[in-house]
Amino acid sequence: MNPAGKPGKSGSLMPVEVALARLLEMADASPIHDRERLPVAQVQGRVLADDLVSTLDLPPWPNSAMDGYALRVADWTGEPLVVSQKVYAGQAPEPLKPGTCARIFTGAPVPAGADCVEMQENVEVLADERIRFIEPMSPGQNIRPQGQETTVGELILPAGTRLGAIEQGLAASLGCAELDVVRKVRVAVLSTGDELVEPGQTLGPGQIYNSNRVLLCSWLQRLGCEVIDAGILPDDLAITRARLGELNDVDLILSTGGVSVGEADFLGMALREAGELSLWKLAIKPGKPLTFGHFRGVPVIGLPGNPASTLVTFALLAKPYLMRRQGVKEVEPLKFQVPAGFDWPKAGNRREYLRGRLENGRAIIYKNQSSGVLRSAAWADGLVEVLEGRTLISGEYVVFIPLSEILN
Ligand code: AMP
Ligand code: MG
Repeated sequence: MNPAGKPGKSGSLMPVEVALARLLEMADASPIHDRERLPVAQVQGRVLADDLVSTLDLPPWPNSAMDGYALRVADWTGEPLVVSQKVYAGQAPEPLKPGTCARIFTGAPVPAGADCVEMQENVEVLADERIRFIEPMSPGQNIRPQGQETTVGELILPAGTRLGAIEQGLAASLGCAELDVVRKVRVAVLSTGDELVEPGQTLGPGQIYNSNRVLLCSWLQRLGCEVIDAGILPDDLAITRARLGELNDVDLILSTGGVSVGEADFLGMALREAGELSLWKLAIKPGKPLTFGHFRGVPVIGLPGNPASTLVTFALLAKPYLMRRQGVKEVEPLKFQVPAGFDWPKAGNRREYLRGRLENGRAIIYKNQSSGVLRSAAWADGLVEVLEGRTLISGEYVVFIPLSEILN
């Protein structure tokens, strides 16, 4: 095989990382500053607007990690100790009487003066209810010290963190009832093409059902975006111009189709007229053509129309762009190396994102990798990245990007 990553004859194709860097630069240039305050239970998928700094020590006081007995180790001479109090979680104990022990339960505050908790399994309860300690004990044992997790003033989550169940739980543990988050990014979704009809309608000759619309609208909602479903745009310059003009109150117009530099490139024509257009030929497969421009100041990303191309280019380029507009720093999906469970004998000049899954620790790929076949992605649980210019034999390592990473 070729050494990994050796560029093939990519001609004038733009490498994926170059396209991503340009998109992120443009996102950085137009960040969304508006924010809103929401109950912590409602921030799933949203982006934290301010640093979350702890106003608490966690735990707020030393507490017991076990059900057992709290004592001061130095008080233990080998003689059994009297139980002087019982402390349940949620109670405030008295200071420990010298020479005694306290019955204590998991999560309960350790009484002042005690420096150790012995678990109940290691003691003997005598007939007179005194406690005989059996094992040697040491100070600090089974005590979760105050501030073990977090101390007052510590940065817990930086601004720009995307919030999910774990971050919501963490914020709640610090007593946050509400959080300031960046307002939702508003995305208008446009499907283009005279051949498209919506599910529920009868297919005429030459027509296909519009799959990208629901694919993107659903995905964007899941990502915490506000979706403006702008329907289907016919292949017509005047209508394209007019419809783009109506979408002036959005952060991004996201369209699919009509970006291959063909005669039916009406989106490109409208953008060219209205100012600004970059037409990129990307070294990516599926999904070579991608448009970026502005229509009267509103950013427009035109994704290729074949559904698997839409999926891959949205995942790797448009999604990171949208996340960055909201101030997210880490926008690239987690990737990891796995051995390939297939051969790739012919090097391509574009970086391939094969729809694949893991089987017995190896990445295998769907039998039909055509860019029109969305079924490949429904079968898959990840994208298998094969670099441009690379051939593979089964057992060599490839990069695997879980779909769960890119869908969330
Ligand atoms: P285009 O870039 O407009 O030439 O579209 C490329 C291919 O993707 C064509 O086969 C289109 O019919 C198909 N396509 C475009 N948009 C959609 C869509 N919204 N849903 C399903 N297929 C589409
Ligand atoms: Mg088209």
